[in-house]
Amino acid sequence: MTNHEAFLEAKKYIPGGVDSPVRAFGSVGSEPFMVERAKGAFIYDVEGKKYLDFVQSWGPLIFGHADKDIQNAVIKTAKNGLSFGASSPLETKLAKIVLEQFDYLDKIRFVSSGTEATMSAIRLARGFSGKDGIIKFEGCYHGHSDSLLVKAGSGATTFGNSSSAGVPQDVAKNTYLAIYNDIESVKNILKENHNIGTIIIEPVAGNMGLVPADKQFLKELRKICDEKNIVLILDEVMSGYRASKLGSYGIYGVKGDIVTFGKVIGGGMNVAAFAGKEEIMNHISPLGAVYQAGTLSGNPVAMAAGIASLTKINESENLYSELESLATLFMTGLKEIADECGVYLQICVRGSMFGYFFNEFEVKNYDDALKSDTKKFAKFHTGMINEGIFLAPSQFETGFICAAMSRKDIEFALKKARKVMKTL
Ligand SMILES: *Cc1c(COP(=O)(O)O)cnc(C)c1O
Repeated sequence: MTNHEAFLEAKKYIPGGVDSPVRAFGSVGSEPFMVERAKGAFIYDVEGKKYLDFVQSWGPLIFGHADKDIQNAVIKTAKNGLSFGASSPLETKLAKIVLEQFDYLDKIRFVSSGTEATMSAIRLARGFSGKDGIIKFEGCYHGHSDSLLVKAGSGATTFGNSSSAGVPQDVAKNTYLAIYNDIESVKNILKENHNIGTIIIEPVAGNMGLVPADKQFLKELRKICDEKNIVLILDEVMSGYRASKLGSYGIYGVKGDIVTFGKVIGGGMNVAAFAGKEEIMNHISPLGAVYQAGTLSGNPVAMAAGIASLTKINESENLYSELESLATLFMTGLKEIADECGVYLQICVRGSMFGYFFNEFEVKNYDDALKSDTKKFAKFHTGMINEGIFLAPSQFETGFICAAMSRKDIEFALKKARKVMKTL
């Protein structure tokens, strides 16, 4: 079967042929390849073609595909049952690993996706603060629950307009949009006092391309939340164990009242979580009045993958500095090539995350990101796919380095990038 045939077949039964829209390659105007298997730094399509994979399942696979240790933990655990619907010590074990690292967080609850984690965190924050209004930042993605699927607003102080059909205006109206890295936009919303009890942010934003927060901005945000008794949710579903071992906390030292995790903490399986101080977390059922539940939450096989992944992270010395040096090698190399070819390029690296914008100017927020040349990006992306390099199929996504990659792989990718960049 060819990629084309497999995709056509998928489209007959699955809307758009995909279970998550970005996989359709819509924003680069090409057709996706269909995956047969993956190993380490590489992914193979149904035609047997091999790609160096900088997507890594959108972040979870910090050790690359089908890592032996994680795989073995999954197989071993699966033999004892796939799901219990009752608690197992594996949940406690993963909880302890995370909470020992993030020692300012007291309690954690596991769920099955990042969307669930942020959705539950928002409900908890509302239940705790007693206030419906929340602030989110344009360009930050927190999963696809109703109150968070809001980004397009004509100015920070207007009611939020949903970026999806099917989200009730009654829900979206409680979401206020601020501008990333712009503390005044937050103050302006709060000045009008919209009954706001929660602010949610990606402290290292990875869903409008890679756009880290300025340190000063994040510190002021923390201060405002303290002064006004607002619950600050740091969404570290992507940046946790990626931007640094301690996520954004390792970079800025700014604490969230609730922190959400996902992606890496499941090592490729369905695990996400939200964690916080005891006084907040005790509001969750069965202790408190904020309801939250899940048939597959804390799934034993998924917990085993998470435990194996985080244990391996803790046992790997210099992991993050090595990943960061590969990311830096890739991005500085790409910038050099772009300069040679007379192509505008903005680059960014945070730990194992990297981003590049075909943009003349530095990108600090969503509006800046939107000024990027997406046509050029699409051409570059398609060229790289043809050369066997899998980069995220959108200008507004982040790239990931995994520990299975070597300098040689990066040099290979740069060689291909030079060839493609010359055609732009
Ligand atoms: C991926 C992501 C989510 C959503 O996680 P899913 O597991 O895809 O539901 C939420 N927040 C951030 C910052 C993410 O990167």
